[in-house]
Amino acid sequence: MRYISTRGQAPVRDFAGVLLAGLAEDGGLFMPESWPQLSAADWRALRGLPYPELAARVIHPFMAESLSFETLLRLTRESYAGFAHPAIVPMIQLGPDVWTMELFHGPTLAFKDMAMQLLGRLFDHVLAERDQRVTIVGATSGDTGSAAIEACAGRDRIDIVILHPDGRTSEVQRRQMTTVQAQNVHNLAVAGNFDDCQDLVKAMFNDAPFRTEMRLSAVNSINWARILGQIPYYVAAALALGAPDREIDFAVPTGNFGNVLAAYAAYRMGLPIRRLVVASNRNDILSRFLASNDMSVRGVEPSLSPSMDIQVSSNFERLLFELQGRDGALTARTMTEFRTIGRMTVAPQAWQTATELFQGFRLDDTDIIVAIRALRAATGYLADPHSIIGIEAARALHTPGTPMVAMATAHPAKFPDAMEQATGARPPLPAHLADLYERAETFTRVPADLATIEACVRATVLRNAA
Ligand SMILES: *Cc1c(COP(=O)(O)O)cnc(C)c1O
Repeated sequence: MRYISTRGQAPVRDFAGVLLAGLAEDGGLFMPESWPQLSAADWRALRGLPYPELAARVIHPFMAESLSFETLLRLTRESYAGFAHPAIVPMIQLGPDVWTMELFHGPTLAFKDMAMQLLGRLFDHVLAERDQRVTIVGATSGDTGSAAIEACAGRDRIDIVILHPDGRTSEVQRRQMTTVQAQNVHNLAVAGNFDDCQDLVKAMFNDAPFRTEMRLSAVNSINWARILGQIPYYVAAALALGAPDREIDFAVPTGNFGNVLAAYAAYRMGLPIRRLVVASNRNDILSRFLASNDMSVRGVEPSLSPSMDIQVSSNFERLLFELQGRDGALTARTMTEFRTIGRMTVAPQAWQTATELFQGFRLDDTDIIVAIRALRAATGYLADPHSIIGIEAARALHTPGTPMVAMATAHPAKFPDAMEQATGARPPLPAHLADLYERAETFTRVPADLATIEACVRATVLRNAA
């Protein structure tokens, strides 16, 4: 498989190149040159496979030139071996035609582990073949940083340095990062806010000599391999509920549009998906676009589902590229204009195509609390403030006779305050994290100063290269 940029101006790359590069040179995002097609018989042959094997079979066509099937299978097995549920992605029925699939049984209790665990291992494998190392740097307000640290800890070829705003993440989130004891992990607590951290990371990438010397790399949500790691669970859900002989709908709690884009990829590969509900909180730019072909940026408002508090969904560019007939020049123009004026509309035909598959849904904080409480009363099921938005969407928008599966993206124990507000109780952490509050923390407090932080990164890298 070869990969092209959504902006049409970057050299074509193979999977390994796309994995290591992250963003394309022209500022675009990588997309496969074509979508692998599975026939009804191919889908049927995947029924009943253990999840790691299903995953390897579904995504191998995207990387066949870079990795053998046997190698990929070893990596998917290792990636999901540490999950706390033997089904890896268990499904629960919550009503007639309404299901939820739990994607949060990985080490950090959020769905990002599904892709990140595989990404860390893919990096390590490709780097070993090239006899290279990389340094991953990133800024986090919580979830992504911990998933990246868990995925990279102990990997031979990777150093990882994560900046978080000192005192401004929740205690669970901080401890999930700072209690990982590994030589190649360095947590920096920056005296500043999340924007300061993000600016410092950008400044490191813009410091070309430093970037080259340290071989900086990123594992943020625009990396194509993260989308790949999220395709197989849509396949698993659909097969379990009767695909390819029956259609299926999904409702996906959405922020950067990565998770729902993976569902779109499964659709393009021939999985009979009928409808994809893009579920948002009060930050509903995508729902507004789907309702009225108007994507206007407004300020981010904090909500009870912080991992979905976004202003601009970075992966939407991939769908835009598809909607605009894979015209890179047009996509580049549309994105540049969007960045300049903060508003995007697409041609009526393209918007129409989008709304035939995608539908928006929005739930604000008050309704999130009410819905968590009501679901608990009706079914005994505890959903976190992200997952509940998908579940409410599924309850409201499913059509009788077609199952709709709501993707559950976080464990309720990750958001104890909201859960207490809704149900009166703080959910206990699962067994593998039960001692999180007793574990020793390791991190370095630093000022929001580029030279100091670059010195910390260099020290980590030199220590581990020795
Ligand atoms: C990251 C995240 C989301 C949003 O996923 P995207 O792929 O960014 O759309 C939703 N819920 C939780 C818990 C998350 O961590």
